[in-house]
Amino acid sequence: MRIAFIGLGIMGGPMAGHLVEAGHDVVGHNLSRLAVDVLVERGGRAATDTADAVREADVVITMVPDSPDVEGLVFGEDGILAHAKPGTLHIDCSTIRPDVARRIAEAERERGIRPVDAPVSGGEPAALEAALSIMVGGAPDDVEAARPLLETVGNTVVHVGPAGSGQTVKAANQLMVAGNIQLLAEALVFLEAHDVDTESALAVLQGGLAGSTVLARKGATMRARTFAPGFRIDLHHKDMGIVTAAAREAGVAIPLGAHVAQLVGSLRAQGHGGLDHSALLKQVEELSGRATT
Ligand code: NAD
Repeated sequence: MRIAFIGLGIMGGPMAGHLVEAGHDVVGHNLSRLAVDVLVERGGRAATDTADAVREADVVITMVPDSPDVEGLVFGEDGILAHAKPGTLHIDCSTIRPDVARRIAEAERERGIRPVDAPVSGGEPAALEAALSIMVGGAPDDVEAARPLLETVGNTVVHVGPAGSGQTVKAANQLMVAGNIQLLAEALVFLEAHDVDTESALAVLQGGLAGSTVLARKGATMRARTFAPGFRIDLHHKDMGIVTAAAREAGVAIPLGAHVAQLVGSLRAQGHGGLDHSALLKQVEELSGRATT
């Protein structure tokens, strides 16, 4: 397969690398050149711009930060609608607004492009290990066409409904992850204030109902106050905006989620947007007069 891969960041870089290793002809494009060079070292090819990347592609995969970035790649002058061949499969793995994903799908179908929204979960470690969980929206035939590629980068690939559904499920995922991290942060500060050994405390908590993937993946780094991303607060702030808007659109209340959205926004406003989302811990410490970093 000839694959155009656009957006070779923390997630897209390793995903594109796995597709090269699986034998595909991967042409990469990214705003900064360094990430393209890394792909070329792994056996991929470099495109000069988006049009150059998508022109001959059978499949275009996009993995960029936000809704306007994907809209630019689809609707822009050198974008997918203007330059991809009819029949091209467009798999958008970015996390964006479900309504934007639906609008993109409609415009692409009109031009004979086959849209699939396939946001991912699992973070950088799962991207590196090709073990992402992928929630997929789109027409059944298009999703089946995308499946072998998605299974190259992920180990849980589930078709959840028509165009935009993958993004809706991802919004729910981000709601749950942010709430989980906030409560883990509060538990850690609480345990430390009681002079409990947090390594053994987290080990026993992981074995019970409080155990979680968040605890397994973030517990040790939060104890060590290591907040290198990973998943940046800036991106989680974007995602809390997506889920609060989508909840409002559906007329449902997410009171705890709305509160956590404020906490994420506050941490970002304090200049910590570039830190991993586990840095919510810093704010709990500050609220408790126990800042350590
Ligand atoms: P990132 O900022 O590391 O990478 C995004 C890349 O896209 C950058 O390298 C940037 O240069 C490139 N880019 C942006 N606009 C572009 C354009 N118009 N043309 C070419 N390249 C362009 O972000 P990331 O962490 O890899 O996240 C990407 C998406 O995946 C986001 O939507 C994010 O919410 C989602 N996501 C991230 C994680 C995570 O743990 N980092 C986990 C799951 C989902």
